[in-house]
Amino acid sequence: MVDIVCLGEILLDMFPAELGRKLADVSAFQPKPGGAPANAAVAAARLGKSSAFIGKVGEDAFGHSLSQVLKDQGVDTRGVRFDPDARTTLAFIAKPDENTSEYVFYRNPGADLMLRSDELERSLLEGTRALHFGSLSLTGEPIRSATYQAVKLAAAAGALISFDVNYRPNLWSSPAEALKQIRAMLPNANLLKVNEIELELLAGHSHLETACAALIAGGPELVVVTLGAQGSYFYCARGHGMLAAFKVQTLDATGCGDAFIAGLLSQLVEGENWRSHLYPDQLMKILRYANAVGALTATQVGVIPALPNARQVAAFLAAQIPSPLGEG
Ligand code: ADP
Repeated sequence: MVDIVCLGEILLDMFPAELGRKLADVSAFQPKPGGAPANAAVAAARLGKSSAFIGKVGEDAFGHSLSQVLKDQGVDTRGVRFDPDARTTLAFIAKPDENTSEYVFYRNPGADLMLRSDELERSLLEGTRALHFGSLSLTGEPIRSATYQAVKLAAAAGALISFDVNYRPNLWSSPAEALKQIRAMLPNANLLKVNEIELELLAGHSHLETACAALIAGGPELVVVTLGAQGSYFYCARGHGMLAAFKVQTLDATGCGDAFIAGLLSQLVEGENWRSHLYPDQLMKILRYANAVGALTATQVGVIPALPNARQVAAFLAAQIPSPLGEG
């Protein structure tokens, strides 16, 4: 039995040598392993859960090194496939200013899109507590059909199905197409994770309570909204709640969302049945844990090097509790 299987893109993020420049003006790029589901798999392993990754890389040096990174991080790679034709996907990134990121994906197609249903590692999907993926797996074929097939296999085996919208507008032919494909997946998801922009895209407005209520009506049993340095919010049939973020010295918020979802899933898969956690008081505790994982990730540069382990999260949380003597 594997605790968490993550399916989708693993790629090289090409980070800019300089901040404050547009993509075309960056002088050099440094490759780093990336891809939201791959990050989440590593984050879950770091938190002490068994995790596996299902996805495709190119039969090239980059693909082999990415697969090795997962292995080195303790992620089960039985589900990794190598494409003889398509290259390992690359994502070039620039940060022209603090609040703006520019992306160009080399994915026309990239190997991550080429995963086929018949290549899925069924033993992983039929023996996992949770399956997690995002909307990059829905932008094209054959991976879209493979994702639906994976959801079918994992759901039939009783796994929690977790969908992180992770909307990247320039990977879709139009916002309408993105909306159509993302909405089509909602009835299959038990847990839906969105940020405020994605909430507004799906619900038409970003009022947390009413927007999440509308999404719950469409299928998911739990909706979680990440709000960056503001914290996070959950909504389920029995109630809803908002939890402020921990105040930390932020160095680099890249990967916080992936760390957060790994924290959330690592708690939801505890115990016999994940549905036993769907009570507001329980979910507030789980959100607190996930907020801590996200916050700690923001205190370090990069994604994989920044992900905390279970001991670090426990120590961080313990340090937040005021002492019984009331000392500051
Ligand atoms: P995404 O938009 O990728 O889902 P966020 O940037 O909202 O992710 O981060 C996920 C979670 O990580 C947040 O809900 C919060 O708990 C935590 N987090 C992110 N940035 C910070 C920060 N600067 N300070 C403290 N916590 C943060």
